[in-house]
Amino acid sequence: QSRQDEAQSALPAQTRDGLRIDIGANINRADQVAAALAAGAEGVGLMRTEFLFLERDTAPDEEEQYQAYRAMVEALQGRTLVIRALDIGGDKHVPYLGLPSEANPFLGVRGVRLLLRRPDLLDTQLRALYRAAAHGPISLMFPMVTNISELMALRAECERIRQELSAAPMPIGIMIEVPAAAAMADQFGAHADFFSIGTNDLTQYTLAIDRQHPDLAAEADSLHPAVLRLIKQTVEGARKHGIWVGVCGGLAGDPLGAAILAGLGVNELSLSPRDIPAVKARLRASTQSALVDLAQQALECDSTAAIRALAGDAS
Ligand code: PEP
Ligand code: MG
Repeated sequence: QSRQDEAQSALPAQTRDGLRIDIGANINRADQVAAALAAGAEGVGLMRTEFLFLERDTAPDEEEQYQAYRAMVEALQGRTLVIRALDIGGDKHVPYLGLPSEANPFLGVRGVRLLLRRPDLLDTQLRALYRAAAHGPISLMFPMVTNISELMALRAECERIRQELSAAPMPIGIMIEVPAAAAMADQFGAHADFFSIGTNDLTQYTLAIDRQHPDLAAEADSLHPAVLRLIKQTVEGARKHGIWVGVCGGLAGDPLGAAILAGLGVNELSLSPRDIPAVKARLRASTQSALVDLAQQALECDSTAAIRALAGDAS
């Protein structure tokens, strides 16, 4: 990376007329923080905690998790850190948990569906997180939330653990990655402190395409009009309750996708560090009104191809 590139990536993702989008990185370990910041990240918008559980023979205990989360908090020195609760199931196999095999794992006991059935896993993780949050700000978000009742149960458990540890409260948000949650965002917003849209799963479940399918995965393009409508609904739901809404799925790392998302009104994008410079450059070259127009045009398109073709238009 040249010095000029580095100077460019340090600039905020702000349009020429002053609309600012927060930029987070998607990372898994504390030792990735420095590179993310050098690439232009302002914090971490998605820390996937699964990595702590994969490729080993037993689950990490509270102490090990606490040390891992604390290292992340300390590396960020007060910057935003959004940690996602364990998202096991689907394609992530963890043999030592002894989970039954399922015919359709992506439609099965995954994400919070597993956490709510396994209080041992949930409580250990929550205890480690509340302890780590004593060292700096942590926001917690839950994956695969579908029903308000799940969020209420999770919040109650967070509060119980928090009181047990006499810890300070932390913001609790949800991933919007199941179409049901997007459709009900106006109601979820009453019970969540923020939303982070997972466009990888939201696309998989909206289009009914397995995101890893060898023949079909290429068609699981998040710039599908149906997915954009759900994102729009999610932004409206967040606005209604005055909470922030970000996007941490792959669409945030695509310059055209990022431009459309900013035009739809999302407040934050969290992406792989390597994609940050191009996304920032795309947003900085634009204006808010151009982005809003672009998003409006995209919403009126009748196909992914038509939306992709908008990349050629200057805005
Ligand atoms: C998503 O679904 O878009 C997401 C960010 O989560 P993951 O890719 O880990 O399922
Ligand atoms: Mg997901």
